[in-house]
Amino acid sequence: MILPIVGYGDPVLRKVGVDVTPEYPNLKETIANMYETMYNAYGVGLAAPQVGLAIRLFVIDTTPFSEDDDLESDEAKELKGFKKTFINAKIVKEEGEEWSFNEGCLSIPDVREDVYRKPTVTIEYCEEDFVMKTEVFDGLIARVIQHEYDHIEGVLFTDKISSLKKRLIQKKLKNITEGKTFQEYRMKFAAAKKGR
Ligand SMILES: [Zn+2]
Repeated sequence: MILPIVGYGDPVLRKVGVDVTPEYPNLKETIANMYETMYNAYGVGLAAPQVGLAIRLFVIDTTPFSEDDDLESDEAKELKGFKKTFINAKIVKEEGEEWSFNEGCLSIPDVREDVYRKPTVTIEYCEEDFVMKTEVFDGLIARVIQHEYDHIEGVLFTDKISSLKKRLIQKKLKNITEGKTFQEYRMKFAAAKKGR
């Protein structure tokens, strides 16, 4: 089932997610719905707060990035079909020299900004089997993980840009909060909700 994606301004996007237990109601269904919602919106990642759930869960599939012509074939191969569910993730280390990448977010439509992040992450997480593991990711995969991980910490990519750039997008963010945006995918907005 395709779920509405929560827009910028909704307080759920600012909550720190709580851990998920194997008993979490309809977990499998929630994960399946999140993938469906992400694919429907042509996203490469989606975090639970973006569908209104303040829990430590996000899904990613970097396949759309593999079609980018600028990539070396090895990296494209790695990105194609890289699909993974992260439950109770905890980034334990970020290393290397920060690099910039133009990020966007399904909750903040029509806003794209260069964001600096470190290239390599070490992350503890489990998949649907709830077996905890530690893995290292880098490049664009790490980038998507860092962006989605921020969501479960209540952080958005627009928090990471200069104050000048923040001022320049203020109007756009206000419009999104008020639901004054049109996207091909279903969204819901904080201000629109309050009016009811
Ligand atoms: Zn996002």
